[in-house]
Amino acid sequence: MSKTAYLVLCLLAGFILESLFQLNVYVLIIIMTVIFAYFWHIAEQAAAYEAQKEHQELQVKVQSTSKDAHLKLKQLTTMVSSIPSPLFLLDQFGVIVLHNDVERVTLSTYEGEETYLQNGYAPCVKEFIKDAFILEKHLERRMEISGIVYQVISVPVMSLGKFSGCLILMQDISKALEGERMQKQFLADASHELKTPIAVIKGMLEILNRDDFCDPQVEKDFLYQMEQETKRLEELVKDILTLSKLANDHPVLDRRKIDMREIIEAEVNSMRKAAEEKGLTIKTTYAYEEAVFCDPMRMRQVVTNLLSNAIKYSEQGTIDISLAKEDADVVFSITDCGCGLHEEQLAHIFERFYRVKDDRSRNSGGSGLGLAIVKSIVEAHKGQIKVFSEVGKGTTFQVYLKN
Ligand code: ADP
Repeated sequence: MSKTAYLVLCLLAGFILESLFQLNVYVLIIIMTVIFAYFWHIAEQAAAYEAQKEHQELQVKVQSTSKDAHLKLKQLTTMVSSIPSPLFLLDQFGVIVLHNDVERVTLSTYEGEETYLQNGYAPCVKEFIKDAFILEKHLERRMEISGIVYQVISVPVMSLGKFSGCLILMQDISKALEGERMQKQFLADASHELKTPIAVIKGMLEILNRDDFCDPQVEKDFLYQMEQETKRLEELVKDILTLSKLANDHPVLDRRKIDMREIIEAEVNSMRKAAEEKGLTIKTTYAYEEAVFCDPMRMRQVVTNLLSNAIKYSEQGTIDISLAKEDADVVFSITDCGCGLHEEQLAHIFERFYRVKDDRSRNSGGSGLGLAIVKSIVEAHKGQIKVFSEVGKGTTFQVYLKN
């Protein structure tokens, strides 16, 4: 009830008292003043109570809103800091209002509130942000900073239809570009390798198909060579397919507990004759006899490739094969007494299609994919391969497998 209503009530009460009891005017005034003061007090208390209630409600609202805002800020900060690429937000004055750690570490060292122009960004980044502010639209640009290639994206931030800053994300695409480059290189190398035997077969077929061709001896030689080239082609395609299967992020392996000695023995027996024909002896030492958890077919490929290389690149002497335990690993080693490899050759031997440029490698007829396949198989097993070599003395390959 309003204070005016109380005043009217007081006057009404005074009028009633006066007409009932014929009171003295002073007494009437005092009574009316007391009644009015009482009503006034009640009204004040009610108003104070209302105000307190409103204040409490407001306080609860403010608290929950600030809690919400705090939570949202925390979520945003966590999200921003978990993005593994430099990311930062600029307001309409170009001041960096939010950034993640990657941005600080890779792009700038300046702390505190600053505009992008004061910051230690590379000139190309500053230029890009300037364009984003001028054009006020989504922009994308590729740039190289300290040897890293970034795909930089700017997203305009609009508030009530007005440009109020932009979000900049810089994505490191160096690895993807390198992968792309390697894939292109692999395709070019594979096509080149496939072209050679095809050209040889095509040339011979053209000669054999000539109307005036009638030399039985040359025909026999050509047919033999064509057979050899076809075999080479077949091997090459098989190796390329193996590599592409192993290049998968999670190559399919048929892993089980196997006795590595059985695999080694089988491969040694199948190649012993070829080794002996070259005056080579194969010696095996087994200091580890437990089963190893791996794909037997793939492990056979590893042993075959390493042993056939040891035979191919050695002349006379002994090839030592051993199986031992080193800490938590099982180590399969193969040491030959061959030509050995230089430091710079060692740096490349696991690359696809790499062949040492000497007569021995050229005459071996290999594709240069053998060691790349071996490395891929070992890595698919989460193992490691090491190589040590001395020119003129020999080479050792060590395969470390987890058991
Ligand atoms: P390839 O099938 O042509 O032998 P690899 O990938 O198996 O291809 O080997 C790559 C190169 O590494 C070969 O050209 C060869 O010169 C060299 N190489 C491999 N193994 C040995 C070894 N045991 N001794 C000397 N050189 C080797």
